[in-house]
Amino acid sequence: MAKILIADDSAFMRSVLKNILAKEGYNDTIEAVDGVDALKKIEEEKADLLLLDIIMPNLDGIGVLKKIPAGKIKVIVISAVGQEKMMNEAKSLGAVDFIIKPFDAENVLEAVKKVLG
Ligand SMILES: [Mg+2]
Repeated sequence: MAKILIADDSAFMRSVLKNILAKEGYNDTIEAVDGVDALKKIEEEKADLLLLDIIMPNLDGIGVLKKIPAGKIKVIVISAVGQEKMMNEAKSLGAVDFIIKPFDAENVLEAVKKVLG
């Protein structure tokens, strides 16, 4: 089963995502609390997929995307409605899919399954 890194500064949001993934059998998840932590864990943990929040302290999701070596990890960006400009930038920086907040379990699993195959 794939290893999934969840990067979001909201502990509540990380917990929601972790539970959605676990119910579908994706039990191998790790969490990052901001962009700096995300980059560290991308290096350390060899995850297959990153669920990446955009608005985070220290380093935001766009900053993370700019620093990920090409092809290192697949990235699904999680962003709020009204952040279309950032979504376009994220796409140009290599994000493969998007989940829009507020989301439901189905939105998340559909995107994750599509990316992980
Ligand atoms: Mg956030």
